[in-house]
Amino acid sequence: MAKKQYAVIGLGRFGTSIARRLYEAGQEVLGIDLNEERVEDAEKYITHGIIADSTEEKALNSVGISNFDCVIVAIGDDIQASILTAMLLKNLGVKKVIAKAISKRHGQVLEAIGTNWIIYPERDMGERVANQLLSPNMLNY
Ligand code: ATP
Repeated sequence: MAKKQYAVIGLGRFGTSIARRLYEAGQEVLGIDLNEERVEDAEKYITHGIIADSTEEKALNSVGISNFDCVIVAIGDDIQASILTAMLLKNLGVKKVIAKAISKRHGQVLEAIGTNWIIYPERDMGERVANQLLSPNMLNY
């Protein structure tokens, strides 16, 4: 697989696990978080880390965000920051924006601004577990 450039915004458990898996698969991963400690904790799992507020266009431009193949917005609780970030990314021309939604409404707004893939972590994981339980080799559970 050719090397791609990913940026993960928000280095909580969700963002860090995406960053880590991509990094371990040999991809370029930039991690961005407001919180210095979060960036430091994720350092082993990312190619570069920066402390920045993703709702500031200047900060996104300074890392050349529009050159990234895919940007993941892994901010949940601060819905406003999540939406603003996704909107800026689309306005700056990022082709593939993925964002986590914590509610249906949050997801609807993300969809309206052109987010390419919206993830509902609990719902999606619940479906995945059920599908695994229904798969033929798991029916003994
Ligand atoms: P998780 O559920 O993935 O463990 P969490 O519970 O820490 O995450 P979230 O609100 O989803 O909480 O935040 C994820 C990360 O996003 C946090 O580390 C937070 O500092 C970061 N974050 C929030 N707002 C911004 C922002 N504007 N710019 C950059 N990072 C942000």
